[in-house]
This record gives sequence, C-alpha cells and structure tokens, in this order.
Amino acid sequence: MSIIQLSNVNQYFDKNHVLKQINLEVEEGDFMTFLGPSGCGKTTTLRIIAGLEKPESGIVTIQGKIVDHGEMHVHAAPSARGLSLVFQSYALWPHMTIFDNVSFGLEVKKIPKAEIRKKVELALEKMRIRDLIDRYPSELSGGQQQRVAIARAIVTEPKILLLDEPLSNLDAKLRIEMRTELKRLHRDMKTTIIYVTHDQVEALTMSTKIALFFDGKIVQVDTPRGLYRNPGTLQAADFIGNPSINLIEARSVEAEGMLRTTSSLGQLDFFYEGHQSGEVVLALKPEDIHISRLPSEGAIPCQVYSVLPAGSETLIQLQQGDRGLLAKTIGEVDYEMDSTVWISFPADKINVYDKLSEKLIS
Ligand code: ATP
Repeated sequence: MSIIQLSNVNQYFDKNHVLKQINLEVEEGDFMTFLGPSGCGKTTTLRIIAGLEKPESGIVTIQGKIVDHGEMHVHAAPSARGLSLVFQSYALWPHMTIFDNVSFGLEVKKIPKAEIRKKVELALEKMRIRDLIDRYPSELSGGQQQRVAIARAIVTEPKILLLDEPLSNLDAKLRIEMRTELKRLHRDMKTTIIYVTHDQVEALTMSTKIALFFDGKIVQVDTPRGLYRNPGTLQAADFIGNPSINLIEARSVEAEGMLRTTSSLGQLDFFYEGHQSGEVVLALKPEDIHISRLPSEGAIPCQVYSVLPAGSETLIQLQQGDRGLLAKTIGEVDYEMDSTVWISFPADKINVYDKLSEKLIS
C-alpha cells in the first residue's frame, strides 16, 4: 500500500516551471531516494510532501488523506502530516543540552517526564551517542551534531522521515559511517524514509527504491540494482555511471529475431522488442571490461593511454582506433603506456539505446 502519493504535481517559481507533472507512489517501509543533478527539483518535491510549500497544481496524499489539492486550495500544515524532517544544516539550539534538543518534540506533547527520558535515551542509543546526552551542541563534532538532529527527528517515532542531503556537510569517512547507521535505523524502525541526494553512491547503497530526477521530471523509479543495470535512458546511463560509462555508436539490423549491431566492438546480437531505427548506442560499463595482456578469440586489441591507480581499484584509459574507452579493475594493476592489450566483455551486460529517442531497447 502506498503511504505517500503524488499525482500530477506541478510547481512554478515565478515563470520557472520547476516540477513538471510529478507522479510518484512511495510504499510503506520504503527507503526512497530522490536522486538527480543539482536544481532538478528533488528538494522542492520533498518540501511539498513536508507541507513547507504549496504545489501550484496536483494532489498529494499521505496515509490515505489528501493533504494538498492545488485546484481545490487544500493545504494541510506540516504539523498535521505525521512526518519528521532533517535538513543539511542541523539547526540544533545552541543554548540547550542534547537532552533538551532531542526531548523538545516530546515535551510539547505533554508526555510524562520518565517516559520522555527513556525515549530520548533510546533515540540517542540508536544513533550511538547516548554518552553525549548532557553536552551542548558546541561541544560536539559535525558528525555528532548531525546524529543529534536525526535522533531529534526519530524520537517522536514518526511513520515518515524526510531527509534532505543530511550527510553532505560531513567528511567522506563519517558519511560512510552514517550511511551504515541510517540503513540500520531504517531496518530497525521500519519507518518510511525519503532521502534527497545528488550522490549516486549514497542512493545505491541505502535505498530500497530510487526516483531519478532530471529537469523537474521523474524519469525512472526503480530498485538500486534495476537502475544500475538498466538505466532507462542514455541520460540516466550517463548519470549513474561512475566513472563515466562508455557510449559506442552502432548500426543495427534485425537478424533471426535478434538485434544485430555492428560497431567498433564488432558484431553483437541482443534480444529486443520492436525496434525500428538503424542507429543505436551501446553502453558498456568500465567495470565490465576485462583486460588481458595476451590475445584470445574475439578479444579486441587496444592501446593503453594511461593508468590511474586509486588504491583499491585502477582506472585504465584505453585507445581503440580513434575511440577512447575507460576500464575499471579491482586492485592494483600496471600496464605500460602505449602497450597493446586485449579487451573482452560479457555482451549481456551491455545496454542498447535507440539513438533517436535515447531510450533503452535491450
Ligand atoms: P540541489 O541538489 O542543488 O538542492 P534540487 O534538485 O533539490 O537541487 P530544487 O532545490 O528543488 O533542486 O530546485 C529546483 C529549481 O527550482 C531550481 O532551478 C531552483 O533554482 C529553483 N528554486 C528552488 N527554490 C526556489 C525559490 N524559493 N525561489 C525561486 N526558485 C527556486
């Protein structure tokens, strides 16, 4: 059952059409991430769900109740939506202890003191900062302050938790630590989470579903694995690829019920359904390219342009004729610049896109 539903939601800032017909269903218990480049409308969509902004048109339903109806001028206040929010800036009250910061949402609900204490301790425990309860925010590191902000959001046991780039102020190591904590928190609390980020690794590692945004539109909603393996458009493939995916132009013909493509990668056959155009683009991930120093049947010769070791992995820039190809290998490898190597790849890992529509066809 969907706990949040957006139907044909549009938003304008002056004449700028920033959300274009957003349709979305978030299932109860989902960890749904809004992913996309800067300025594509993720935060605006989150703020509309939170009730901090009124959509120009469209309907927002939370737990079966219409909270926004643009045309009917219905707009429920944020406090009536049963959700908690955490922003990039932690906004803790500096003159209050961590206990007071976290307990605030419970105090206003007139819950007995002993129970408040228990709930605050539990929330801090979940974020592994129980021992900081009597300190002031200025005595905490950035990462600890962000944990307090999350503890404050979960202490009221909201059914829905909205997080807007909560980790972007933290250093790389802390971010990874917090991803783990958030993932565990989601499992333990079974809360529905919506999480905004432009960091695809964050999205792929934590979410149960990802909504991919471009230019005010949701272009794909999928599981992390689905989005990683089968991005629906060339733009999505290019965005998800890290490092950049290899895009290779090819000609295609129908052959024995398959799509036969001819390109610098040779002749390759793909399953397909009803494709017309003769021009396609093959998308090959750097991590799917296997490099060998020795030739083998079907392997393609390339020249090594440069080798970029990055500790646990190595990026290898290859030159195949006048085309560059990027490969990624786990561990440390070294190839002589300008030496010849042979590449191979599993053809079933290649995605085929129609060149005109830029849509995935196989
Ligand atoms: P980021 O990752 O940079 O936060 P985003 O995907 O969350 O980006 P939004 O913040 O939703 O994007 O912004 C969508 C568009 O709306 C952008 O073009 C932005 O400049 C514009 N915008 C957002 N808020 C306002 C506002 N209050 N007034 C005018 N324009 C706004």
